[in-house]
Amino acid sequence: MSKIVILGAGHAGGSAAGFLKQYGFEGEIVLAGAEQIPPYQRPPLSKAWLKGETNENALQLRSSEFYAENNIDLRLGIAATAIDRTAKMVAFDDGTVEPYDYLVIATGSRARKLPLPGGDDDLLLELRTIPDAERLKQALGGGKRLAVIGGGYVGLEAAASARALGAEAVVIERMDRVLQRVASSTLSEFFTRRHTREGVIIRTGAEVVAVSGHSVTFADGEVLEAHAVLVGIGATANDELALQCGLECAEGIVVDLDARTSDTAIFAIGDVTRRPLPHYDVMHRLESVPNALEQAKRVACAITGRPAPQDEVPWFWSDQYDCKLQIAGLPFGASAQVVRGDSDTGSFAVFHLKDDRIVCVEAVNAAHSFMFGKQAIAKSSRVDAATLADESIPIKETLL
Ligand SMILES: Cc1cc2nc3c(=O)[nH]c(=O)nc-3n(C[C@H](O)[C@H](O)[C@H](O)COP(=O)(O)OP(=O)(O)OC[C@H]3O[C@@H](n4cnc5c(N)ncnc54)[C@H](O)[C@@H]3O)c2cc1C
Repeated sequence: MSKIVILGAGHAGGSAAGFLKQYGFEGEIVLAGAEQIPPYQRPPLSKAWLKGETNENALQLRSSEFYAENNIDLRLGIAATAIDRTAKMVAFDDGTVEPYDYLVIATGSRARKLPLPGGDDDLLLELRTIPDAERLKQALGGGKRLAVIGGGYVGLEAAASARALGAEAVVIERMDRVLQRVASSTLSEFFTRRHTREGVIIRTGAEVVAVSGHSVTFADGEVLEAHAVLVGIGATANDELALQCGLECAEGIVVDLDARTSDTAIFAIGDVTRRPLPHYDVMHRLESVPNALEQAKRVACAITGRPAPQDEVPWFWSDQYDCKLQIAGLPFGASAQVVRGDSDTGSFAVFHLKDDRIVCVEAVNAAHSFMFGKQAIAKSSRVDAATLADESIPIKETLL
């Protein structure tokens, strides 16, 4: 009977262990994670956690009994330090060594450091783990000021939560608009207006030259003082173990659709991977819960010999105030955008079209448009752009 060692007990690793059991794997499973906490959901850390609406137990993927009951050897607080592919062994920082038949690398990603003077100040905050979120939460409240460096999803969500707690929030973005790397300008403008209405100060085109745990210095010499400074400038794949043992990596471990690496005994899943996207014919690194779950399922199917699951369209969500943003697909090769609905009402969708096919939909409080777009991407359906923009026409009638 074979033995699987999973490195990283996060969303992907924890889910893979669960799917393996669900699909009837009867061998040994070791699930080893560097954190002290059993696998948990991170999305609420920038939302419900900061507002005190959830706790550690509620975030866990499985009950605390699940692992023992299912004979999953959960080892917490230990980090893998090296993989010996010839001997099929993993070494850990507690001195133990574990043999494997299959290895699943699910080491996720880490918050990117600010490459500036002061960027290594221990007082700077980041948001990746429960202890990070707790530290940030302690720094928020009435009369406090939070400076957020980076106008991406995590930064904007944290700013919204800070406002809900009565703190002042200043979002500092180097680009011309927030969400520039990840969303359309329509969406950026909508969220800028919404955050501004809620009292968040958004400073775009702002060049930061130095930081500390309590201040941000701009290129023109201005210094912004704050009770806390959160750095949210993206994440880097934890792919060092894979690089060290010679697996193919390209800012992320390169895997095939079944999550297999360049070594047939080693899989990789979740944020740490660079994977093929079937609907787009590109390799990409996704950082989302749906991706972690999809790859966890794929690896469990591949190891247990089940047929591979159907191709999925990548998707993601973000919650800010009462705005539920859902994005399906990626705007690769898009040549036109169609807005359905009115961003002033707070319910609209931006469709990105490549010729007459939808390649991406960004939907704010518009679940129907999101579902329609996601299915249209999956089926590569053709749509009529003019009628898609007309809300008086039922969305299904826009299909050609
Ligand atoms: C604040 C925040 C908000 C988010 N919001 C959303 C959202 O709204 N929607 C969405 O879809 N996604 C969201 N995400 C992204 C989502 O949480 C991640 O994509 C998902 O957690 C990826 O799962 P993973 O298992 O690959 O990585 P992780 O969940 O990060 O788990 C990786 C684990 O591996 C451990 N590890 C690292 N190195 C080693 C080692 N050498 N040995 C052992 N263990 C190791 C790490 O400590 C960690 O516990 C959010 C993420 C954050 C941080």
